[in-house]
Amino acid sequence: MTSTVFATRLMEKIPRAGDIVSFRFERPEGYQYLAGQWHVVTIPVSPEPLTHHFTHSSSPTEPFLEFTTRMRGTQFKNALDSLPLGVQVEMEGPFGSFTLATASATATGDRRPLVFITGGIGITPVRSILRWQVDTGSALPEVLLYANSSENAIAFRDELDGMAATSPDIRVVHIVSRPSPAWIGRQGHVDAEMLADELGDVASHTYYVSGPPPMVLALRDTLVAHGVDRDSVKTELFEGYQ
Ligand SMILES: Cc1cc2nc3c(=O)[nH]c(=O)nc-3n(C[C@H](O)[C@H](O)[C@H](O)COP(=O)(O)OP(=O)(O)OC[C@H]3O[C@@H](n4cnc5c(N)ncnc54)[C@H](O)[C@@H]3O)c2cc1C
Repeated sequence: MTSTVFATRLMEKIPRAGDIVSFRFERPEGYQYLAGQWHVVTIPVSPEPLTHHFTHSSSPTEPFLEFTTRMRGTQFKNALDSLPLGVQVEMEGPFGSFTLATASATATGDRRPLVFITGGIGITPVRSILRWQVDTGSALPEVLLYANSSENAIAFRDELDGMAATSPDIRVVHIVSRPSPAWIGRQGHVDAEMLADELGDVASHTYYVSGPPPMVLALRDTLVAHGVDRDSVKTELFEGYQ
């Protein structure tokens, strides 16, 4: 898909969980992208515009464009926070290959279950992909392993759980490293033992791993060490996110 530079307007700011906020924009007519792709966002602030990369947390099936981020008090995030609704913002996109290979996979008869592994804000491309699959009825057998520090920090939790409840092909496993006493789900971090426990034969799946680089690279090493072919691990590194 060819990338283009375009102007759009901020329509809505949507608090998600903890300090996570989605920024929703008008989708220009004709702007096409694949679920899981990212774009470059330039916001008009003084003395100079500021630019960051963000994944589309929206799905191509939705009539708006959205990205989702953690508001951490940095120069960019403070500037983003101060933008009034209706302001014009420049975007360039789409970019990236953290997308489903559904067409070629079906052509080669590859129906291996998909496993999405992510943590924190790394959920953005996965939310885009799952929303697209649900909206188009194209979900494969798949599992999402979604790690967060606390249950209050799980972005899109209701929506993801709703997808799992209504689509027999989608299973969502939340993992919390510092849960409250009321938490009854999985605790700790995603490691080899947890993967084997959730998936059985770890080597027989196709993986999509997204988020901060240290987490993504460590998980890829774990998967490869447990017999997963390197080509079966697709990664998206949120460079700049620590
Ligand atoms: C393909 C891609 C997709 C992304 N998708 C998302 C998303 O959906 N949501 C989201 O919140 N973030 C996403 N990010 C990360 C995002 O672009 C910001 O880097 C992140 O949100 C941190 O911004 P900040 O303003 O909080 O911190 P910043 O003030 O920008 O930076 C924090 C720290 O990271 C360092 N840093 C900044 N940029 C880089 C870089 N390129 N390489 C190495 N170090 C760097 C800085 O020196 C600083 O120490 C994505 C990044 C990429 C590359």
